Amino acid sequence: MAEQKKIENVIVIGGGPAGYTAALYTARANLEPLVFEGFQWGGQLQNTTDVENYPGYPEGIMGPEMMTQFRAQAERFGTRFVTDDVDRVELSDGGVQKVYLGEEEHLAKTVILAMGAEPRRLGAPGEMELSGCGVSTCGVCDGAFFKDQRVIVIGGGDSAMEDAIFVSKYASDLTVVNRRDEFRASKIMHERAAERPNIDFKTPFVADEFVAGEDGKIDHVRLRSVETDEVEDLAIDGAFVAIGHIPKSEIVAGQVDTDDEGYILTEAGSTRTNLAGVFAVGDVVDNIYRQAVTAAGSGCKGALDAEWYLRDTPPSPEAHWVAGGEPAEVAPTPGS
Ligand code: NAP
Repeated sequence: MAEQKKIENVIVIGGGPAGYTAALYTARANLEPLVFEGFQWGGQLQNTTDVENYPGYPEGIMGPEMMTQFRAQAERFGTRFVTDDVDRVELSDGGVQKVYLGEEEHLAKTVILAMGAEPRRLGAPGEMELSGCGVSTCGVCDGAFFKDQRVIVIGGGDSAMEDAIFVSKYASDLTVVNRRDEFRASKIMHERAAERPNIDFKTPFVADEFVAGEDGKIDHVRLRSVETDEVEDLAIDGAFVAIGHIPKSEIVAGQVDTDDEGYILTEAGSTRTNLAGVFAVGDVVDNIYRQAVTAAGSGCKGALDAEWYLRDTPPSPEAHWVAGGEPAEVAPTPGS
């Protein structure tokens, strides 16, 4: 007799605010979620220091500690975690969803995709080493730490303008460094940034290196003119790299609909993808807001969409039978 395989109600892929919130809600709906949280669980907040903009933490909280608490809260209601990266998936339109760790196969009636996104990096020396010591990729998160200090924002898109406008409320001097004279940002955002008295623009320049001072924090940035190749050092207290994000959607490429940049497309006002039973939440969908609180809210929506799907969709014959023709052990769907 062929081995019987359990078919989970919900598999969540991703261990950031969106994934853990999806897990919390589906766990509290008695759906016994299985979360593939990734080897480096915690998402982008794992690389963040103080989080001061998440409601409910009036004194702020360290990013990794916050993710530990998110995880513990989901675990309290029975979430199971696999601390490893999913290698591949075979997604189906309304049938059994398959998730693989190497050759190890996991089956589910629904999948919530919450793999997140990562900030695009320059790849310049010192950039990663000084992350958290003056180099940041999130103006909204870290701008307030640079009160009366000298800061640069690198990039020419809307994110760079948004970061520059936000951070300029705190910084004494802010220079936007862009590799072209033209800006990709919308005209209105560029104009708003240009109107701020303490914002200057330096173009066409690139940042070649971030250099630490004796205290281990950033001391200056080495800028290079794209036109002349001449280099100059600019003394700074902080640098925000705002050159876009890369959604972590490789494992579903070609299976669910994405936009040109790889962000997963969902039906307006929901977390439903083009495949029935497959939902997408958090930064792998969102190229605009990208905050921990918006990702968590989106994870909640994904959990509710999955719960309603399980409640309203009669199980397909496929959902009860797996390879080998043997009946599978199907996790009970509460309320069905
Ligand atoms: P983006 O529009 O792709 O802009 C990225 C910027 O970074 C461009 O100026 C690009 O230069 C530059 N860049 C990329 N790689 C670089 C490198 N290696 N070295 C130096 N510069 C580099 O990304 P985004 O600004 O994050 O915006 C993403 C989307 O979110 C956009 O649709 C945007 O409109 C939206 N958004 C909207 C708002 C808002 O409306 N409030 C706020 C934030 C974001 P090039 O132009 O030369 O390629």
